[in-house]
Amino acid sequence: MEHMETDFCVVGGGPAGLALALLLLRSGARVTVVERARSFEREFRGEILQPGGMLLLDQLGVLDRARQRGGYPLRRFQLVEHDKVLMDIDYRQLPAPHDFLLSIPQRHLLEELLTACREYPDFVCVEGRSVSELHHEGRRVAGAVVGRGEQRLRIDAHLTVGADGRYSKVRRLAGLGYTRVEAFKHDILWFKVPSDGRTTHDIRVYRSGKNPVLIYDSYPDSIQIGWTLPHGGYKELSAEGFPALVRRIEEAVPIYADLVRATLTGPGDLSLLDVFAGSADTWVTDGLVLIGDAAHTHGPIGAQGINLALQDAAVLHPVLVASWQAKDAGRDRLLAYETARRPDIDAVFSLQARQSAAMLTHGGLSDRVRPLVARLLAHTPVYRKVLQQIAFGRTPVRVRADLFTEQTGSQAA
Ligand SMILES: Cc1cc2nc3c(=O)[nH]c(=O)nc-3n(C[C@H](O)[C@H](O)[C@H](O)COP(=O)(O)OP(=O)(O)OC[C@H]3O[C@@H](n4cnc5c(N)ncnc54)[C@H](O)[C@@H]3O)c2cc1C
Repeated sequence: MEHMETDFCVVGGGPAGLALALLLLRSGARVTVVERARSFEREFRGEILQPGGMLLLDQLGVLDRARQRGGYPLRRFQLVEHDKVLMDIDYRQLPAPHDFLLSIPQRHLLEELLTACREYPDFVCVEGRSVSELHHEGRRVAGAVVGRGEQRLRIDAHLTVGADGRYSKVRRLAGLGYTRVEAFKHDILWFKVPSDGRTTHDIRVYRSGKNPVLIYDSYPDSIQIGWTLPHGGYKELSAEGFPALVRRIEEAVPIYADLVRATLTGPGDLSLLDVFAGSADTWVTDGLVLIGDAAHTHGPIGAQGINLALQDAAVLHPVLVASWQAKDAGRDRLLAYETARRPDIDAVFSLQARQSAAMLTHGGLSDRVRPLVARLLAHTPVYRKVLQQIAFGRTPVRVRADLFTEQTGSQAA
């Protein structure tokens, strides 16, 4: 078996893993990222970035370059029912420059993060290979093994990070439990239609049909549509036949009915996503930390996942620098990250559950009080507080540039 040594072995080159890798490299550490995919030619789900995530990427000096590759600023998050705007969350009320949502292909963010990492000679990216085992020294996780058989590579590390997404293998290999959180009770039919010049510069949830629809502009020339269905509801609907299913989608989103009709030709044009939320029972153990979706998984409502992944990296960064300097990767020391971060993540779960109930449920009292509550809320100080929390989180997070061994990006300006 081949063998290499690094300070930090980060499994997963998504937003969480690459942001953390860059922070650690800038603090003078050696970092190896293991990414299963061979290239960025893969499907990404999340495209909407909250202002809090933008702020961090700006502080890392990669936001401008990622935006230059293309993306759309979106002004508002609206809940629309029969042509009536029930709820209007206007991001322009936030202080500039991060006073909008950014619809940007994840690839643009990841390519810029990876390019920035590659500027460091102590960065290694093991691409197209998957982690198969954790390597232990006594009870402590002391690295990871990549690949199988003769091709195996053992990466010894001061600390290993599981940033390998919602189905995290690292989490499983470390024997860390995972519990579903009831924040989202829907499946989603996910597809794009050509925008045909009809972009809105907003994100909207349309509640006109029985099943609410999420819609936003997707760079360069599409409209992303997510049709929410009760868990397991697709089977029943698809039994009516594809033309009937398309008619239902048209009813749910009448303004794009012509585009839906022209684009959807068969079930292959739709992706059915089992969307769930959940959290690992603990995010740290001796020699190992989980971040991003591997630690806590979020559905698309409120567009929080990428934001939280980037914030996790920024909160974890000083804990890991201290751990590396003290040569102590014990659970007790690493717990500082989980203790600081978990209350904020729990607050996001409750916020998403409230957003999901406010936007996606149907029938009964909630339908009658929803317009009233939305109107009232818009005129109270609570509104600004909620907007601030959705955009930046409960506790503001910043990049600890004082831990960098050199000044870079916006920090150098
Ligand atoms: C339908 C849908 C829409 C969403 N929309 C949004 C949105 O608009 N905005 C938003 O903020 N969030 C959204 N999210 C959530 C968002 O996509 C995630 O929260 C975010 O990508 C998490 O980042 P991450 O780095 O933790 O994990 P990931 O982005 O999942 O990255 C994990 C990486 O690890 C790699 N990997 C996995 N296993 C291994 C292994 N064994 N070895 C090596 N590498 C491995 C993967 O290839 C991947 O590159 C959405 C989610 C869904 C389901």
